[in-house]
Amino acid sequence: MTLLTGISTSVIDRTGISRLPRSWLIGAGYLALYLLLYWVTYLEPLAHTGITPWNPNTGVAVALLLTRREHWAPPLVALGIFTGEMLVDVSPPLWWVLALTSTYLAAVYTGAAWLLRRRGFDQPIETPAAAAWFACVSALASGTAAAGYVGILVGTTQVSAHETLAGIGRYWIGDFSGIIALTPILLLRINRQVLWKELSRNPGELVLQIISAAIAVGLTFALAATHDVRLFYPLFAPVTWIALRYGVPGAMISFSLVQTTLVVALELTPGSIPLFDVQFPLLSLGITALFLGALASQRETALRQMRHQDGALQRSMRFATAGQLASALAHELNQPMTALTSYVRAAELMAEQLALGGERLADTLHKASTQASRATAVLRRLREFYRGETARLEPTDAVAVVMRVALRLQERMRRSAVEFDLRHGDEVPSIMVDSTQLEIVIHNLLTNSLDAFDVFPAPTERLRRVEIAVEVRGENVLIAVDDSGPGIGPDLATRLFEPFVTSKPSGMGLGLSLSRTLLRHQGGDLWSELSRLGGARFVVRLSTREMPQTAL
Ligand code: ADP
Repeated sequence: MTLLTGISTSVIDRTGISRLPRSWLIGAGYLALYLLLYWVTYLEPLAHTGITPWNPNTGVAVALLLTRREHWAPPLVALGIFTGEMLVDVSPPLWWVLALTSTYLAAVYTGAAWLLRRRGFDQPIETPAAAAWFACVSALASGTAAAGYVGILVGTTQVSAHETLAGIGRYWIGDFSGIIALTPILLLRINRQVLWKELSRNPGELVLQIISAAIAVGLTFALAATHDVRLFYPLFAPVTWIALRYGVPGAMISFSLVQTTLVVALELTPGSIPLFDVQFPLLSLGITALFLGALASQRETALRQMRHQDGALQRSMRFATAGQLASALAHELNQPMTALTSYVRAAELMAEQLALGGERLADTLHKASTQASRATAVLRRLREFYRGETARLEPTDAVAVVMRVALRLQERMRRSAVEFDLRHGDEVPSIMVDSTQLEIVIHNLLTNSLDAFDVFPAPTERLRRVEIAVEVRGENVLIAVDDSGPGIGPDLATRLFEPFVTSKPSGMGLGLSLSRTLLRHQGGDLWSELSRLGGARFVVRLSTREMPQTAL
């Protein structure tokens, strides 16, 4: 009865066909892959041991220990090591020595995996700091594993004492390079759609990369035949190129391919240089590729975050502009709408007195009056809807906000040959403001300055300069945006902050009025002055204290 219950919870699915639990499949798959790799890479072993200079199987073991927290993982790793050596080694040590070394190695790598997991490295490696941690822990763990393993073999007289150092070096380099090459790949979560998009983004470059990889493979075989290890270095170029282009996935996959090709070439070339001799340069390539890949991945993540923030800001800006538009429309149209409603109402009364056709005219005018009232109500509701948005005041670093916006517009400034400068004191206190709304304001002011330069026909005609200064004035912080553009014409100066005032062909004339509304709502202000740079100067004032909010 108990047996039946046990089976029903794990192996029978709805169709009644028995299935193995997932962890069994993972365990069996792991064991098969481990043994296969162990067998394939059992090359140039130290006499009477399983010590070889290339152990990618250890990379698989560490990946399993990192990703599977279940209690069966460490014994399975020990079992893999034991079985591998027993089945593959030419003259394996005594079984109980093997049991001891397998348990020791599994314990060391379980400890290393625990340490890495605690720092969050059961996730793909995506920053140089993570790469450094991973490389250091792997170097230490493989060193400890090598020293203990060889120590046990020497202590049990399986290996002679004079081979100790050679054995440790060989085992260490084999395990370390195995972990560096394979574990990061096995930790990757490859999204096939993203991968395809990445690869098809620049097909020309991809073709060149494939050609250079093919040349590298050809060269490897040719060089192995001439026994010239020094000339292997140019083969590293495609790996660094791919690492910088595709981040950690590209770096580690291409490194593993280069390593495998090199090993195959050496093994297939009779009398060529020992594998151990190329393992050191290969290991340094692996670590370099990991760091470069992590750097590229980090840059890509930062760009993605920036694009995401950009999208959020654009949405906020659209919402705020729509609010300002609704508010301005309601304000501007309220008067004519009220007048229109009264005129129609008066006409209705007059029509009632007409004998001929008066009834139909009164009816039509009544309909017109109803529609006009409806339009007024819609405008009012629209205005109230956007008014509902309240600012989220929080202590904000004004300098950081300005830098963020400037960074986003950096490309546009570069294209328009505009020099940008940000000046601020050493200690600018936090201001109480809705940081997204402040970003919207600074973005508006900066794009207005950049738009103003478009008035000048050539970039060299006048020095194009924008300066932002963040200063502390008592309890306030002032953010002043100065530019060397044409400045504000006298016809616009007095109406600048009114809605729909614009001099741009495709302008809405809402940026400045919206900016002022947002700031005043939070107890701040915005005004314009003459700039010492010859153009316009806009000053934002915000308080370091929380000010009562007013309705928008
Ligand atoms: P928009 O940018 O849609 O025109 P704004 O309210 O942001 O709306 O700006 C209103 C007008 O103020 C602009 O059309 C422009 O004529 C003037 N203006 C704003 N900033 C500057 C500046 N830095 N230099 C010159 N003119 C400016």
